[in-house]
Amino acid sequence: MATNSLKQLFEAGFLQSELDLPSHLLPSTFPRLAQISFRTGLRAYFSTVQVAGLSEETTTVTKGSSSNEMFWRKENCFDYIEAYTEAILHLHHGIELALKELLRQKHSLLACKELPSSAVLLCRMLNKESFAEDPDDSPTSVEFGEALKRIVELIKHKVFDETFGFIQKNHDFLKHLNKLRNRIIHRGMFIMDYSAFDLMVSKYLLPFMVSLSDLPQFKNSGCIPQFSSGRNYWYNKKLACDIDPINEIVEMGQHGAVDRKKLAFLKELGRAAYHNPLNDADDTRRIDDSAERFRYEILAQVETSNHNPHAYEAGTEWLKCPVCGLGTLVKYIDGEGEHSHMSCVCCTFSPNKSLGNGRDHGLAIDDFWTFN
Ligand SMILES: [Zn+2]
Repeated sequence: MATNSLKQLFEAGFLQSELDLPSHLLPSTFPRLAQISFRTGLRAYFSTVQVAGLSEETTTVTKGSSSNEMFWRKENCFDYIEAYTEAILHLHHGIELALKELLRQKHSLLACKELPSSAVLLCRMLNKESFAEDPDDSPTSVEFGEALKRIVELIKHKVFDETFGFIQKNHDFLKHLNKLRNRIIHRGMFIMDYSAFDLMVSKYLLPFMVSLSDLPQFKNSGCIPQFSSGRNYWYNKKLACDIDPINEIVEMGQHGAVDRKKLAFLKELGRAAYHNPLNDADDTRRIDDSAERFRYEILAQVETSNHNPHAYEAGTEWLKCPVCGLGTLVKYIDGEGEHSHMSCVCCTFSPNKSLGNGRDHGLAIDDFWTFN
């Protein structure tokens, strides 16, 4: 393809910088893209429960132990590695964009790579000048590690107030996260243990993402999709049972140790909520989805109308789904006549019997299973 055609191809889009405003007041794509990366990364993280969910049944997994070989193999299968890699890369990317946006809002040059070492001096000096950024010749943006260093320096010197103290508190964690991301993307190596990955997300990563998103700097911009309730756009759709898996996981992480079964239960709720095809209860722009709801309920009835109830994997009854709220959670029996699994034909919620009922984990959800 000729150079001109390639140039046209890659420039077929729009820049959000055509308003007549100083560059640091122009709307930025950083917050919007950060939210999208958070969504993509969390969807991947929640999906790990399906690729390595069996290991939730054990409290510890001993590497090399023959009795745990099945779990160990499952935790290192391609599906887990894919979900783990996708989660780390996207969540790291979202944080990087958000950190750059904080710098950019102070001054456009602070988010540029070509800035001499004293961020404090330059910030104070540059805010007295106008800076016209040419979109066709814009400077390279700063990398994660340098953006973090600049923000921490600005916090220490009170250019950013105490609201940003949580970034300084997480300085070591963010450096480790950046190193982990670099080991994956530059060298294609290092797979974190499933349980360590869970602990890292619940104790450090998810709480940091919530604090970062709750900053007023990310609530004011007109370019960020946000629900009227104030819930962040990157959150999963609201659950019919009113449980908030993200907040529950953050809460669990604050107590140090992770209850693997409870975490798996919450991840499955969150995973299905991201897959829920119905309107979000918080979304005021929603269009009528009553025909879609009707269709899923009919599907559940078809699924439970099997004339041979002893057939393998026959659907025997349906329950109200705690995620999408429809009567579409179909209960199946296995070849021995036992109820062994269920799955929602609408949002795909598929609780595993080995994880128990919600009440076993302090979650207000009607029981799915009876245990003798
Ligand atoms: Zn459902």
